[in-house]
Amino acid sequence: MGITKTAAIVGAGMAGLTVAAHLAKMGWGVTLFDKGRKPGGRMATRLQDGFIFNHGCQFASAHDAGFRAALIANQAKIWPATGNKFSGTPSMASLAASFASGLNVQLNTHVSFMAKQDAGWRLSLHDASTTPPGLVDPQGELSAAFDALILAIPAPQATALLAAINHPFAGELAKVHLAPCWALMLGFAGATPGPDIVKPPTGPLSWIARENTRPGAGPQPVSYTAHASAAWSAAHLERPADDIIATLSTAFAQATGISAPATLARAHRWRYALADAPLSQDHLWDPHQQLGLCGDWCLAGKLEAAYLSGRSLGIRLTT
Ligand SMILES: Cc1cc2nc3c(=O)[nH]c(=O)nc-3n(C[C@H](O)[C@H](O)[C@H](O)COP(=O)(O)OP(=O)(O)OC[C@H]3O[C@@H](n4cnc5c(N)ncnc54)[C@H](O)[C@@H]3O)c2cc1C
Repeated sequence: MGITKTAAIVGAGMAGLTVAAHLAKMGWGVTLFDKGRKPGGRMATRLQDGFIFNHGCQFASAHDAGFRAALIANQAKIWPATGNKFSGTPSMASLAASFASGLNVQLNTHVSFMAKQDAGWRLSLHDASTTPPGLVDPQGELSAAFDALILAIPAPQATALLAAINHPFAGELAKVHLAPCWALMLGFAGATPGPDIVKPPTGPLSWIARENTRPGAGPQPVSYTAHASAAWSAAHLERPADDIIATLSTAFAQATGISAPATLARAHRWRYALADAPLSQDHLWDPHQQLGLCGDWCLAGKLEAAYLSGRSLGIRLTT
């Protein structure tokens, strides 16, 4: 099949990867740009000193048959042990990598500006791996032109790009809110027996998971990821990471009964974690400008919502 149209997609999380796969299947020439070192966005995994942490999305609930089939096709397995929730095998990053395979993903590429010109959409690209970020194309601020542009990034980040070109979608996004989340990562070098999953009913933490219980995890030292509740994270958002580690480690010990000191302790702040006030619309599409927006925040703070939003935009553009 020859290329019919071209699209630039900013953001290679679940929403961007899903719309990209649909358009590519329908014969479009698709390029994804992501400022991260790997595809997946909040489907993230950190490897540190021999420990593995899935510090973002924990699992995917699958109510939609198409999403469930896509998860299974990308080697996701039921986790925790029973129910309708899936983990990547062995990590959420490997699930993202599987969804991204075969797609043209330009990583370490931060999109800082976009402009609609006669030839199509042009983007200003910066190499996110250098400090300060350098222009990807030193010859010209704006690189190749695309027929359509899709922003598959968290609403607040999309608002900034849209506001710079005075697009009315920036106003639509004002009603969307994403709550933050502090993630605590603890590694234990010795064998530290402890619970697989804990959902503390009180205190700062709302979720604790032992990483080496994931499907296909194989032998690895014991590591835990714990998430603070949205309310606690919002109240302590600007505190230094060391303070957060100290407070959340105490809560972790109380909730799990693990009193041994961790060999490794890290905290990660997700400024935009879970959409608690979504748009309640599958996606946004401006046919005149050939500009679309999708992401979990259109529907709910869930991986499945990101998939459904991306899929709906892909169908809209090809029917
Ligand atoms: C701590 C935490 C726990 C979670 N737990 C769960 C869970 O258990 N179950 C569940 O279903 N969901 C969970 N979620 C939510 C789930 O991760 C998200 O709903 C989903 O991953 C969102 O996908 P997305 O494609 O919409 O956005 P994202 O994954 O955020 O992808 C957006 C991408 O855009 C890139 N980007 C942003 N701006 C730019 C730019 N200017 N230029 C280039 N690239 C850019 C980012 O690098 C990112 O890769 C959790 C999220 C967090 C943070």
